[in-house]
Amino acid sequence: MTAAVPLLEVSRLVKAFGGVRAVDDVSFGVAPGELVALIGPNGAGKSTCFNLINGQLLPDSGAVSLDGGSIAGLAPREIWRRGVGRTFQVAATWASMSVIENVQMALLSHHRQLYRFWPAAAPMYRDQAAALLEQVGLAGVGDRPCATLAYGDVKTVELAIALANEPRLLLMDEPTAGMAPRERGALMQLTRRLVKERGIAVLFTEHSMDVVFAHADRILVLARGQLIASGAPAAIRDDPAVREVYLGSGRLSADAPAAGATR
Ligand code: ADP
Ligand code: MG
Repeated sequence: MTAAVPLLEVSRLVKAFGGVRAVDDVSFGVAPGELVALIGPNGAGKSTCFNLINGQLLPDSGAVSLDGGSIAGLAPREIWRRGVGRTFQVAATWASMSVIENVQMALLSHHRQLYRFWPAAAPMYRDQAAALLEQVGLAGVGDRPCATLAYGDVKTVELAIALANEPRLLLMDEPTAGMAPRERGALMQLTRRLVKERGIAVLFTEHSMDVVFAHADRILVLARGQLIASGAPAAIRDDPAVREVYLGSGRLSADAPAAGATR
């Protein structure tokens, strides 16, 4: 798996804010179909890393490439157009729209971008939206307003919306935040199945260590802007440097969020 050619390649990335090196010489890759967790204590540089990849921030130095082409310094919309998606919270203004309409909107915006000179290609994409909802297990609630859904189902709609954009790389910032433990496992399992089927590369942050250790193929550990470990969950769990950063001592628990983990 690690031998696969990476879709995303981050090389010697640096970003400082004043005197703080938020991201300090970080290099890693993510292959198609691979789920990689980026973890680390609060302030470790996870969000900065994400924002350097999605174009919200400009790196001081280093390279970010997607499928061999450099994307560092491109506008966020251009990076999105090249296939870097992210999960967004369903906007409050969309809460009154039905579940299927939310997914149709996402499909419409995706296809408008691709076929902007072909207005006839603006049907409502209802069939495709219904198919996507079926794939995420929400076929039965398509006509309900999003506002009436259980919280876990809203998070699942967010996943369907992200998939509607057919990303090659999906950046997920705490996809299961606020969910009950059982729902979390189900959503990550669903995410895993769908991204494996589609060969989508996933980079996600997550404060729940049980989610990370159960669902990541590989884990990257950041501390003070530096990548201190990278490997399979079992190796990371037993890595002394990681244990030091997270707990001071003792084992990285799969059940308890680590002390100081981000929220
Ligand atoms: P994490 O997401 O792992 O909690 P961040 O990437 O948000 O960490 O932050 C890394 C470091 O960079 C922290 O010290 C934080 O205070 C600093 N930082 C992040 N964004 C900014 C900013 N826009 N301006 C100044 N400092 C920032
Ligand atoms: Mg953060």
